[in-house]
Amino acid sequence: MSKLKLVDIDKSYRTGDRYLRVLNKISLEFRESEFVSILGPSGSGKTTLLNMIGGLDHYDSGDLIINNESTKHFRDKDWDSYRNRSIGFVFQNYNLIGHQSVLQNVEISMTLSGISADERKERATEALKEVGLEDHINKKPNQLSGGQMQRVAIARALVNNPDIILADEPTGALDSKTSTQVMDILREVAKTRLVIMVTHNEEIALEYSTRIIRFLDGKIQSDSHPLSEEKNNAPVIKNKKNKRTSM
Ligand code: ADP
Repeated sequence: MSKLKLVDIDKSYRTGDRYLRVLNKISLEFRESEFVSILGPSGSGKTTLLNMIGGLDHYDSGDLIINNESTKHFRDKDWDSYRNRSIGFVFQNYNLIGHQSVLQNVEISMTLSGISADERKERATEALKEVGLEDHINKKPNQLSGGQMQRVAIARALVNNPDIILADEPTGALDSKTSTQVMDILREVAKTRLVIMVTHNEEIALEYSTRIIRFLDGKIQSDSHPLSEEKNNAPVIKNKKNKRTSM
């Protein structure tokens, strides 16, 4: 089933007295469960695309169709509710609040949801357990490694049970071993959700994504499926080089 559809999306930014066209008639369709990597040179429009899909910024023309509903007439409150209900964001620099504990950093995602403090705590603890951080919930972010901080950010993104995870360079600040841990978690997440990830890391994109979209100058250069979902859902065996092999 189609989860998200972009139809002829255009976006320009004004720089001085000129307009820079950043997205040029982008049409794409995403299913409920896919692991999509967006690759392309800096400035090609990848983050802008993610921001459009996440409702952080708005397209100029075209349409973004969510669960078969057009967003053409969405007002700010509709975008707010879409973001809160449907989207989890993961950023390269984690965006954690330094003076709050790991648990509070995850609970904060639920402050607008109207659920009780006890339930917030329970859900945040559960989300942190899912990313393997149950022993670190009372620590502050600066007591964690980069990989652990990114796992907190993933727990925070997942705690409201969104259908779509948007990840902008989630391993950009991590070494390769820690990147693998974070990517293994995102692969699990993508088994039941749509995950769209912007990355510069071709190797990671090829290893983990079920679909790779390449951008160039605000246009789609290619859209391919390096891994079938079937293969990506297969049990994972790690060999000596820590490479993934499917059965
Ligand atoms: P990528 O993620 O591929 O590096 P971006 O989507 O971040 O590319 O940016 C595409 C182009 O749009 C760049 O030239 C960037 O400078 C410009 N741009 C992005 N956001 C804005 C903005 N808010 N205002 C003006 N220009 C912007």
